[in-house]
Amino acid sequence: MIKRYPTKQIYVGSVAVGGDAPISVQSMTYSRTADIEATVEQINRLHFAGADMVRVAVPDYEDANALKQIRERTSLPLVADIHFNYRLALIAAESVDCIRINPGNIGEKERVKEVVKACNERNIPIRIGVNCGSLEKRFEERYGQTAKGMVESALYNIKFLEDLGFTNLKVSLKASDVERTVEAYRMLRPMVDYPFHLGVTEAGTVFHATIKSAIGLGTLLLEGIGDTMRVSITGELEKEIEVARAILKDSGVAKEGLNIISCPTCGRIEADLVKAVAEVEEKTKHIKEPLNVSVMGCVVNAIGEAKSADVAIAYGKGSGLVMVKGEVVAKLPENELVKRFLQEVEKMAENSE
Ligand code: SF4
Repeated sequence: MIKRYPTKQIYVGSVAVGGDAPISVQSMTYSRTADIEATVEQINRLHFAGADMVRVAVPDYEDANALKQIRERTSLPLVADIHFNYRLALIAAESVDCIRINPGNIGEKERVKEVVKACNERNIPIRIGVNCGSLEKRFEERYGQTAKGMVESALYNIKFLEDLGFTNLKVSLKASDVERTVEAYRMLRPMVDYPFHLGVTEAGTVFHATIKSAIGLGTLLLEGIGDTMRVSITGELEKEIEVARAILKDSGVAKEGLNIISCPTCGRIEADLVKAVAEVEEKTKHIKEPLNVSVMGCVVNAIGEAKSADVAIAYGKGSGLVMVKGEVVAKLPENELVKRFLQEVEKMAENSE
């Protein structure tokens, strides 16, 4: 049983982050934010893919000024990503649901005070987003690009805001490798009770980003660390959401959808299992109820797996069994098994709603 670190709960728009809230999933658009059409289109794609919130980069005034219209045309909670220029944060705070800044990068305390005032007025949180590749100079000089350097930077930035009486915070500590990322989050976790936004940054292409994020984020999630997450992929937007959701589901952190148990196949295989499992996966994507199903290539392990599965197929020579809760409900020719199996899955999903 995973025991989550107790964290303070904050809200990004309508989405609760921290405390007992489900771990939320987010991504970031790659259009120029000032290109309102493209940004709205990407936000809507992410919404459709299952994102809980979305971040947009705000490097200049054109981008900041576009946020009002983007807000009016989309409903996902919006996070504005801002570096250095506090005036952009002031404009963004009028429209978005969270600001990502590092107070140390904004400069004079008076400027940070103004950002805090704007966030307080609209009751929106700030994410302190520490990134190993852009540590403040003094932390990098003292600690190098290390987990310790990230943690010291986070503590400095947290104190900066706490001294101004602002605690509506979440924190991220991202490095481009798994080891430093995990070390940093582990180090900071017992020191503060703010929710954590998890991510391995600049994780690469789909294949490697998936693996790095599964190891890094999966490790932390299993230790009860993490309240919201982003999988960073050099690839299409929807992939980030798909992989993040899969990490939550396959780590056992989120109980939703089908957990498909299927064998790797071997010389005893009695059917085209690869095709059957692909069909099962595709046709059950819409199911949100947490069900265990197994699809196995021969009777050697199929009956054992079927005992602990809600619905199962055990292939035999030219035919096979469909089983529900370990009991055989049908013996059918091979080409009818998937269809019957899917009917049983749908029925069980409906009954457990
Ligand atoms: S279930 Fe049968 S076909 Fe699948 S890997 Fe095991 S022995 Fe091989």
